[in-house]
Amino acid sequence: MTEKIIYFDNNATTKPAPEALEEMKPFLTELYGNPSSMHYFGGQVQKYLDIARERAASLIGANPEEIIFTSCGTESDSTAIWSAVRANPERKHIVTTQVEHPAVLNLCKFLQSQGYKVTYLAVDGEGRLNLDELKNAATKETAVVSIMWANNETGVVFPVEEAAQIARAKGALFHTDAVQAAGKIPINLKNSKIDMLSVSGHKLHAPKGVGLLYARKGLKFVPFMMGGHQEKGRRAGTENVPYIVGIGKACELALKNMKHESSRVRALRDSLEKRIVDSIPNTRVNGGKAERIPNTTNISFEYIEGESILLLLSEKGICASSGSACTSGSLEPSHVLMAMQSPHTFAHGSIRFSISVYNTEEEIDFVAKQMADIVARLRKISPFGEGKPTELSLNNGYAG
Ligand code: PLP
Repeated sequence: MTEKIIYFDNNATTKPAPEALEEMKPFLTELYGNPSSMHYFGGQVQKYLDIARERAASLIGANPEEIIFTSCGTESDSTAIWSAVRANPERKHIVTTQVEHPAVLNLCKFLQSQGYKVTYLAVDGEGRLNLDELKNAATKETAVVSIMWANNETGVVFPVEEAAQIARAKGALFHTDAVQAAGKIPINLKNSKIDMLSVSGHKLHAPKGVGLLYARKGLKFVPFMMGGHQEKGRRAGTENVPYIVGIGKACELALKNMKHESSRVRALRDSLEKRIVDSIPNTRVNGGKAERIPNTTNISFEYIEGESILLLLSEKGICASSGSACTSGSLEPSHVLMAMQSPHTFAHGSIRFSISVYNTEEEIDFVAKQMADIVARLRKISPFGEGKPTELSLNNGYAG
């Protein structure tokens, strides 16, 4: 393993911003008071929670009282969906998509086992949603429509504002998992029909262990965590003050730098993508024709396995990820690429590069060069030969 890490796996997690860590420090040392305490010491801490709430609200164009701090994106997603179904017990239907994160999909599967009907909307070959399908799927029985803002694997952006209007017209609540969108593209909930929105701290340069849920003012809300009166009774448990301060600072930085950084990051991503596609035959950019967040590219390399590419990248100190999940010894292709009807020979060889504000042109240059070498090496030893379809690949078979 080389010493220097080139970190292109920012949709998995991000480097905490040094500015956020700096602001957190006092709350891990001398400012340890409980913000609910009546004394001056607690009150001092409470002030910083208020600042964090304002900063978080500004990032998404919300009011501070609409922000509920949570422990992660998964908790925010669970809270939102559970709240929606409990607040509307007579409605027994949920609409979501086939390409959501497991944080939403696995909860929906569980609710199905509890008697809920769930409609999983399909996507096209570029990972795009057809809103007419949502219009047909949402009914007076629908408690909640949950559609992600941006896909974590491909970066494809969904038209969530339009989807929220469709849900509202059917009297259903609308939740969006904005974990991969927040901090990367503008979000303004001021005149939005979105009822709930999830954000995760560690995806936008705050540390792990903190997230937030936007819950529209006036929304009928049933808490997931019940207990004390924290977060206006919407999420019990003593607040994780240092981490809330951290996510507040990270939100402030993301908003301040978004305009400049999103175009810089997009240029880096586009350059990496172009160099790889131009230099390596039999590749395809998954979702490349759709609208995407600026930092993500998901590229399939036909006839080789994503995991082999990852291992060789890792030897060079490059961190990326593949969509496959290793379950009980067999590698399942990504559910997102399967929903996009990606042929098996491509779906097994997909790599996601997700970059951040901390990445540089030199790193893009290095990774593009390494990719050309690695893919050529792997194709030489591939049982499928150097790009010639075999009987197995034509049958959509998968060896290993
Ligand atoms: N939703 C999406 C789209 C994600 O990408 C992730 C994390 O990968 C999550 C939810 C879960 O977030 P967390 O890790 O904060 O629970």
